[in-house]
Amino acid sequence: MTSPADRDRILTAVEEAADEIVDFTAALIRVPTVNPPGEGYVDCAHLIGDRLAACGFEVEYHDGDGRPEHTAAHPRRNVVGRRRGRAARPLVHLNGHFDVVPVGDGWTVDPFAGLVRDGRVYGRGACDMKAGLASAVYAAEALRRAGVPLEGSIEVSGTVDEESGGWAGVALLAERGRVSSRDIDFVIIPEPLNVDRICIGHRGVYWFEVTTHGHIGHGSMPFLGVNAVSHMGAILEAVRTELEPALATRVTEVPVVPDAARHPTINVNTVAGGQVGETVQTPCVADRCSAIFDRRFILEEGFDATRAEILALLERTRQRVPQLRYEVKDLMVVDPVRTPDGSRLVSTLRHGIEEVLGREASLVASPGTYDHKHFARLAGIEHCVAYGPGILDLAHQPDEWCAVDDLVDATKVLALALADLVGAA
Ligand SMILES: [Zn+2]
Repeated sequence: MTSPADRDRILTAVEEAADEIVDFTAALIRVPTVNPPGEGYVDCAHLIGDRLAACGFEVEYHDGDGRPEHTAAHPRRNVVGRRRGRAARPLVHLNGHFDVVPVGDGWTVDPFAGLVRDGRVYGRGACDMKAGLASAVYAAEALRRAGVPLEGSIEVSGTVDEESGGWAGVALLAERGRVSSRDIDFVIIPEPLNVDRICIGHRGVYWFEVTTHGHIGHGSMPFLGVNAVSHMGAILEAVRTELEPALATRVTEVPVVPDAARHPTINVNTVAGGQVGETVQTPCVADRCSAIFDRRFILEEGFDATRAEILALLERTRQRVPQLRYEVKDLMVVDPVRTPDGSRLVSTLRHGIEEVLGREASLVASPGTYDHKHFARLAGIEHCVAYGPGILDLAHQPDEWCAVDDLVDATKVLALALADLVGAA
């Protein structure tokens, strides 16, 4: 473990850099990297890359060549910086996505001004997660300014498209072998999970589409047709009365927050039926209806059983409802992930949180997914957590903000963790 004198110097270096950390967060907010469609990515990647270079990192860029979303109008560009110590390993990789969700209504401040007021930084992406990116850069920089030599190495990456699945971001870096368990020991993603919580994983996702097929007929003589919307109604009713109560009885051992998300869930995202796309109503029996479902499953269920349960439910409904015809299409599957018990990464962060905040850290898991899935599944890196500044509930909200105190405290925790994991003893 890093010596008490080094720890003090690191904490002082973060405090002295507080204004720079806030300024850099605000500068990142001023680049409106809205996704979709993915604006300003090149500018933002270079803003991060230039700062990393100024902090002694070797910087490289990775474009989304070959991905359909990587277009001339909206190019995908990721940035990775590396500061090598005496040895290549151990290596801690800090990753933040720099895309933000659209602004939406209800703002009382300019979402892209980078306003700092009353101890808060405001703007779209303030907490999710430009504050986290600034924390990552300055946590590494604090070690340098404190004169703490590195035994291993540090990487900081800024990546795109987390909000839309991360395929041209972390997934691309993983598929190209740029992030891999061959080189990287630990990954920390400074997502806004609250400054005293460490996130050890997330639930699984199964998106699927069900389409019912009826038979068109005159709306005045519905008995001569088969109504696909009514049949979808029967399926929705089965989901509500059979599946939802069953899901409510299951609870995961993983500490998912909020509490209600410790149960598996299902949401109907969309229903579209009838003569879809017609601008005027048609006097017809609906011959087609589609619904998209968002099923979040827990580690204990697994994907195979989750899917089999859906298929069985649909089959029971078909047997009950005359002439019901349906098909199912899988749209997206993400397996749940979980950092291994006893991970040194978790205990190190935990210790840092207690040292900086003077209170106990708690372990949580996320109800939704984030880039952890790509680090775990594609890059094969088991020791991955999310820890960063900002309040989870403010993500994607109007008047999104991050407290300056959180920003500084999370940077301290990350800096101490870096010192313990890769600093010279
Ligand atoms: Zn995020």
